[in-house]
Amino acid sequence: MICRLCGSDDVSVVFQGDIRSGGAHTASDEKAKVYRCHACSVEFLTTDVELEDSEYWDKKEDSFSKEKIYEKYDGEQLKWLERIGLNTFRDKVVLDFGCGHGTFLDLVSTISKKTFGVEKDKDLFLEFYEDKPYEIFETLADIEDDSIDLLVSFDVIEHLSKPIDVLSEIHRVLKKEAVIYIGVPNQNDFLKEIEESYLPFYYHKSHLFYHDIASLRYILDKAGLSYKDSSFLHKYNIYNMINWLKQNRATGNPEKKHPFDGGHDTMFKSYVEEKGIASHILIKASKR
Ligand SMILES: [Zn+2]
Repeated sequence: MICRLCGSDDVSVVFQGDIRSGGAHTASDEKAKVYRCHACSVEFLTTDVELEDSEYWDKKEDSFSKEKIYEKYDGEQLKWLERIGLNTFRDKVVLDFGCGHGTFLDLVSTISKKTFGVEKDKDLFLEFYEDKPYEIFETLADIEDDSIDLLVSFDVIEHLSKPIDVLSEIHRVLKKEAVIYIGVPNQNDFLKEIEESYLPFYYHKSHLFYHDIASLRYILDKAGLSYKDSSFLHKYNIYNMINWLKQNRATGNPEKKHPFDGGHDTMFKSYVEEKGIASHILIKASKR
C-alpha cells in the first residue's frame, strides 16, 4: 500500500474492522482498513471512492426536514463563525466551498460584500437556497479567477479523493492575499484514544482522509497556499464524552445535568482545544 496523499510506502495499518457509512445514529457496517502515512502524517481509507451527496444524505436520518437541519447546523456553524470572528467577513467577497444547506452563508451574507457557495449536488438543497441573497454554483470551475477574498470550507475536504487538486483550483479563484479557513475532523481526537468503541464511529466511509496539522500543511503547500495558523474546536459537550464511556454510543450534545454545568463544560472544551485533541481542526492559510 502506498499513501494516497503523498505516495510514500512508509505506511502502517491503524484500524481494521467495521466503520460507519451513515449518519450519527446508524450502525458501523462497512468493512474497512485504515492506514497511517509516516511521511505526510495523514490517515486514509483503502478506497478512493467519493460518496455521492445523495447517498450520503439519504443515510442521514431527518436529512430533509428543514427544522431538524437548522436545529443541528445553525449551532454548529455558529461555532466555526465564533472561532473565525464575524468581523473577518465584513465587506469581503466570501465563498463557502461545500456549503451544503447554506447554513454558514446564512450567518455571514448580510455582513459580507458578496457571498457565494459551491455545492456539487446543489439540486438536493434547492429549497434551502430559495430567497437567499447568495448564489450557489456546482463547481469551482464556475467561479472567476482572482475573485474571492475569503474562502471557508467546513467538514468537506476529508471527503475528497484528490484534495490537492481541489485546493489548487481554490488557489485559482482566490485574490492575491486572500485568506482561507478549512475545518476538518481531527486525527488526534482524544476519544479515539480513551474509548475503543468510538473508532468504528469516528472512521467513516465518506471520509477518505483523516488529517492532523502536518498533513494539512502538506496539502496546502502542494497547492501553493501558505499556512498561517491553526486552532482546535470541540463540537461536543462533556456529557457526549461521558455517554461514550458509559453507553458506547453517540449522543450528540446531550442536555447538561448535575454535576457538570456550563462552566465546567467550557473548561473541558478549552482544555481539549488547547491540547490539540478536540474533535476538529481549523486551519488558516493564504494565497502566496
Ligand atoms: Zn503520505
